[in-house]
Amino acid sequence: DSDKPAFKRVLLKISGEALMGDQGYGLHPPTVERIASEVKSVHDLGVEICMVIGGGNIFRGLAGAAQGMERTTADYMGMLATVMNALAVQSALEEQGVFTRVISAIRMDEVAEPYIRRRAVRHLEKKRVCIFAAGTGNPYFTTDTAATLRANEMACEAIFKGTKVDGVYDKDPNKFPDAKRYDEVTYDECLQKHLGVMDASAIALARDNDLPIIVFSLDEPGGFRGILAGKGTYTRVHG
Ligand code: UDP
Repeated sequence: DSDKPAFKRVLLKISGEALMGDQGYGLHPPTVERIASEVKSVHDLGVEICMVIGGGNIFRGLAGAAQGMERTTADYMGMLATVMNALAVQSALEEQGVFTRVISAIRMDEVAEPYIRRRAVRHLEKKRVCIFAAGTGNPYFTTDTAATLRANEMACEAIFKGTKVDGVYDKDPNKFPDAKRYDEVTYDECLQKHLGVMDASAIALARDNDLPIIVFSLDEPGGFRGILAGKGTYTRVHG
């Protein structure tokens, strides 16, 4: 198989907005199904997959705080939004025959498993996709940081950050036609140049643990599977 993956265990991070399609808000089921099929195609190769999904398509803590809401309460609302997204992705994956577990950093036992590290590792070994919900469980963090934390805890070989563009650019490629894509960039350069790969705490946590971040386009059909086999365009963020 020419798509033989170079990785055994990875974490896929997607923003909540990736699930809303062309809508301005919420979930777009055909888009959720499409992303699930991308995940399935990688799962079919035998790769162990963790997922962290944002909540920005439903609620962001900072937006709530800007409207006068207490920040930590707003952040908990954001974390609950990620649980809804996780359930939507779980439903789409299971519809396609992929076994999953939603694992929440905030206990809600009727809806999702609590996060117990060794149990999550066992799920991965049994080839269940682990969808980590509710971020880190703490306000003042983001799901990018949650992704880096879980990727480290689960001993993933890399974080795959699926975005709307095929890598990290020196400026916004949607606004500047002369924007230049990096094939590779260091963690420090991302931080110094504010390249917007992930927030600073997430990048620092990846850097301190030598966890590569691979930024690629989730809009490209077959892209995730191809990137795992080292094909296509992407940016590798490393030390
Ligand atoms: N959030 C949080 N702690 C975490 C992860 C997320 O408080 O560990 C909250 C925060 O308010 C954030 C919201 O959940 O704005 C949604 O997550 P995020 O903004 O990372 O979603 P994305 O931009 O990836 O869709």
